[in-house]
Amino acid sequence: MGSMNRKKRIFLMSGILVVLVFAVLLTSHYVTPVSTNAADKKQTKVPKNIIFIVGDGMGMPVIKAYRTFKQEKLGSPKAQTVWDPHLVGMQTTHPDDPRDNITDSAAAATAMATGKKTYNDAIAVNQEKEPLRSVVEAAKEAQMKTAFVVSSDITDATPAAFGTHNVSRKNKEQIANHFFDEKIGGEHKVDILLGGGMQYFNRKDRDLVKEFKKSGYSILRSKDDLTSQSSAKMLGLFQEDELDRAIDRPKHVPTLKDMTQAALTQLNQDNSHGFFMLLEGSTIDSAGHENDVVGAMSEMEDFEKAVQAALQFAKKDQETLVVITADHATGGFSFGADGMTSETGYKWDPAPILAAKKTPVYMAKKIAGGQSIRDVLHTNIDFTLTKEEISQVEKAAQSGEASTIQLSIQHIFDQRSFSGWTTFAHTGEDVPVYAYGPGKAAFQGWIDNTKQGKNLFHIIESPSTYRP
Ligand SMILES: [Zn+2]
Repeated sequence: MGSMNRKKRIFLMSGILVVLVFAVLLTSHYVTPVSTNAADKKQTKVPKNIIFIVGDGMGMPVIKAYRTFKQEKLGSPKAQTVWDPHLVGMQTTHPDDPRDNITDSAAAATAMATGKKTYNDAIAVNQEKEPLRSVVEAAKEAQMKTAFVVSSDITDATPAAFGTHNVSRKNKEQIANHFFDEKIGGEHKVDILLGGGMQYFNRKDRDLVKEFKKSGYSILRSKDDLTSQSSAKMLGLFQEDELDRAIDRPKHVPTLKDMTQAALTQLNQDNSHGFFMLLEGSTIDSAGHENDVVGAMSEMEDFEKAVQAALQFAKKDQETLVVITADHATGGFSFGADGMTSETGYKWDPAPILAAKKTPVYMAKKIAGGQSIRDVLHTNIDFTLTKEEISQVEKAAQSGEASTIQLSIQHIFDQRSFSGWTTFAHTGEDVPVYAYGPGKAAFQGWIDNTKQGKNLFHIIESPSTYRP
């Protein structure tokens, strides 16, 4: 190597060194502190409002399937779900149960609502059956407004564990009573209750609908009531039990998004202390229990639109933390199943699911009610069924049982889409956690599901400009 070259190299190296030193100085003294502070400030700022969102039974394979279903529906292979960009980690789901290591919705909701694990079936009580304080109670004590928006009955395990206490999730009438009877600072714990479950509120022994009305709540029975009867205190009971799957829902029954927007409009008025809202896509779980892939995709779509409304609110507001997670997975759903060959392709196929106009549950009820099998299938399924498929349903219909007919119709969709199921119950894997907005940093990483409750308490009870 010649001396000129060496000299040139040294000159070049010195030049690079000067630039590097300058860059380091600039970064450490100016750029880094400013950007870190800004990021920290945004992440550690106490959010004014909290929207805590649960996809009940929404395991990762169902999310993957829904994303694929959405891509096919939109003809957009790169489409994401609205929560995909906000993934921050995973959470455990197991209960603290003497026998079980797979959670039910009650124990999982208790963990998230109170920060404490408990036994399956428990609604915000510990092993000794003593009540565990919930984040909703803390929110009310901090004078925050509170709202529950769910697609199950309002007395179902998740909303029950956030708003009441009971030794068993099965005591739905007691849970409904609790929503009215238990007060904090003279107020009912939840200002806005929207979902299903009229039968648990309007009973022969007690009419809680009348009592809520007397107590100043607007009573909502239909989608139109969400606008015409809108007020700061609302009890909306749109069906007797959980709401029908979105794809089957009668016109007067609102979507989860309709209810979410109605609640947010009210919560955002005269909102000096902030609000806590629980939003649950409850019936993703119900479809999972039935092993109904058509129903599961219907509920995921209904859920996504509601989550989108919540995220849009938060993006505009900039003072709202949104956490999105699941309590557990249901049905052991698998994206891909037996039957895939080199001819069919190695793929889960959403096309047959998109061809369903109603769920197999809906079709089975019509057939069990005496309608023609061929007519029902032809009217509600947009592909030509094979002779074998029709004969499967005809054979099932001989039982006269809607549930048997339902399984035979579901089998057609499973086989054509390559959807697998391993159980009619829950499975115990970890589930994803997504977060957006101020305070989201606390939800990052692999966390225990009790960390959700602990984080929420910390936020609600932090001294802030919003809360006393
Ligand atoms: Zn659940």
